[in-house]
Amino acid sequence: MPKFRNMKNSEKKYLHFRKQVDQLTETLATMHQKHLACKKGCDLCCMDYQVFPIEFHAIKQALNDQPVERQESVDGSCIFLKDHACQIYEHRPIICRTHGLPLLFMNDDQWELSACELNFTEFDDEDFTPENTFPQDKFNSKLFLLNQEFLKEHKLPHSDFDLIPIHKLKD
Ligand code: SF4
Repeated sequence: MPKFRNMKNSEKKYLHFRKQVDQLTETLATMHQKHLACKKGCDLCCMDYQVFPIEFHAIKQALNDQPVERQESVDGSCIFLKDHACQIYEHRPIICRTHGLPLLFMNDDQWELSACELNFTEFDDEDFTPENTFPQDKFNSKLFLLNQEFLKEHKLPHSDFDLIPIHKLKD
């Protein structure tokens, strides 16, 4: 389990939140098992994501305890991807925990669905419902609020909307 030094409320809540995400994604993965082509060695979803400071610092702390080799980011690849495997799997950010699943979100006042092109090849759009998709906006809103709390608690000079690319953890 990652540790923040002198863990503050927002950090404890973030770790709890991450568990909630894992519980839901496990349920959805079981539900959709026969439509998922996800397997060890597939890294199609991996890229140099941008994350909120609360997630960036959680990974940074984990790396202090368990350093891992970082790769060069080539054409937007993730520095933690090595031999098609994630080197920080236990500590990966929320976005990486939803890889491959059907994600439901609002875009320009319309509901949109995103799922890996390798998965759900025999699934009609109408088969997706709020009950069998990951409610991305709901979780993003929660993460936004946790990050706000984190910035306040640590008096960090970021705006509420600042994101940090993961490759900044290279050194
Ligand atoms: S953190 Fe891990 S799961 Fe996320 S993009 Fe990087 S290698 Fe992939």
